[in-house]
Amino acid sequence: MAKPRVGISACLLGRNTRYDGRAKGAPELVAALAPDVEWVPLCPEADAGLGVPRPPMDLYRQAGGRIAAITPEGHDCTPQLDAWIAATLPALRHGGLDGAILKARSPSCAIGTARLHDGAPGQDGNSSPDTHGAGDGASASAVGTAPVGVSASAEVCDGLFAAALKRAMPELPLAEDEDLRSAAQREQFLARLRVHQRLRRDRRRLLVILALLLALLALMLSSPTLSRYLPPCPLHYLSHGRLTCPGCGFTRGWQALLAGDWRGAGVYHPFAFRILPLLVMVAAGHALLCRLQRRRWPLSSWLWTAFGAWIAAWLLTLLV
Ligand code: SF4
Repeated sequence: MAKPRVGISACLLGRNTRYDGRAKGAPELVAALAPDVEWVPLCPEADAGLGVPRPPMDLYRQAGGRIAAITPEGHDCTPQLDAWIAATLPALRHGGLDGAILKARSPSCAIGTARLHDGAPGQDGNSSPDTHGAGDGASASAVGTAPVGVSASAEVCDGLFAAALKRAMPELPLAEDEDLRSAAQREQFLARLRVHQRLRRDRRRLLVILALLLALLALMLSSPTLSRYLPPCPLHYLSHGRLTCPGCGFTRGWQALLAGDWRGAGVYHPFAFRILPLLVMVAAGHALLCRLQRRRWPLSSWLWTAFGAWIAAWLLTLLV
């Protein structure tokens, strides 16, 4: 069974991605969770092209509430980080992510523990060298608005990547490395990851089933040979009618079957009206059995079985 996919600050895996070129791994945490999850390493600052090593940066609240990641020399790294975040978040969402473990106190990765300054570097004691990135590395808000979780009194907030991740995927289980020190905390987090993974799979299954139903409905309502909407047989189309598919009649046979015309289905293709109902019946019986035994029904294997049966029937047509 596939493991939950978990985004993780790359430096926690022991990679030398920090601003000072050193690692700050969490070997105990990584070793404890590694057998149960699939890691998706991320380093917003290095991946955004800021380099390793790089100048440290801190978060500053600017006029209008914009939060920016600025180096002691006054270089604003926010646009570069925002560009990476905007390009990466859709890929993470569509690639499937079940949670994230991010580095505490990082201006990029922290979840509510990044230090937030007012003004600009050098003002009011801001930017003392030992506070930059609090030793973790940096980045700021994806679209230039205040990150989620800004606390005026504590002067801490989410790092820029964490804030954007929260906005893009609010249901995603998130934790900082320091929240997962004990075995009980890790077990609890793992349970949240598994729930998220199950929901994500169920959503995907639902979409596949809906797509199949829509395809069957389209086939039922519209003949591929006559329709203006369905694509024609590629062989027939590309050869300008000179070549005929060896399984010709199969699609029309299924269409007749879906319209309840069993006799027509048999005339169009000898296998069409036997294979489809047989597959549906066996798959439905298997789904029921899985449900009774509290097992997951393997939808993807059934899709492959259906495809295999279709190919087998198509090849059989060549022999009879
Ligand atoms: S904390 Fe810093 S070094 Fe670590 S992954 Fe995040 S941005 Fe990279």
